[in-house]
Amino acid sequence: MSDHDHGHGHDHDDHDHAHAHEHDEDDRAEQRARRQVALAQIRQYGDPVLRMRANEVEEFDDELARLTERMIGVMHDADGVGLAATQVGILRRLFVFHDEDEDRVVVNPVITVRGKETEVDDEGCLSLGPIRMPVERAIEVTLDGFDAAGNTVHLELEGISARVVQHELDHLDGKMIIDRTDPESRREAMAQLRPRLVLSR
Ligand SMILES: [Zn+2]
Repeated sequence: MSDHDHGHGHDHDDHDHAHAHEHDEDDRAEQRARRQVALAQIRQYGDPVLRMRANEVEEFDDELARLTERMIGVMHDADGVGLAATQVGILRRLFVFHDEDEDRVVVNPVITVRGKETEVDDEGCLSLGPIRMPVERAIEVTLDGFDAAGNTVHLELEGISARVVQHELDHLDGKMIIDRTDPESRREAMAQLRPRLVLSR
């Protein structure tokens, strides 16, 4: 949303509204285009890189900072709440996620405390298109790691944020929600995924 329409006189109201409407449509078209560009950068199911274990990050340099910034941009443009480096084809242990209005970067993440209580809820994945499936996750987790500058990060998370970091950490170990869901949901998801695999050959 921009505020450039403020300050116009009342006599221009109709004119402004017409323009505002056009702008909304332009914005939506631009958003869709940006989403397509972002999704094109994200590895999709069937890509072997999604099944590989990512390696620990050893150097906190400018390149790492640039990578995390690019990943935050791709995550937002793709309308996602989390993105693992694996998903952009980089086998390094880091992910970004959106936690209560804040973008967070976690490098070499480790879940140090996992609550015993779990909850089943539907999850989607930017590497699986529109498919969603139920996944059981711990409701509370404590996550330790580092930010892009190498400072320690210690997060006590619950609910959606706890779910997101468990999902992203799975990516770094080559695991996806299709491995975590119940057998029937897996069958349904595979049936939806198979035609896409054939088409992409
Ligand atoms: Zn995912």
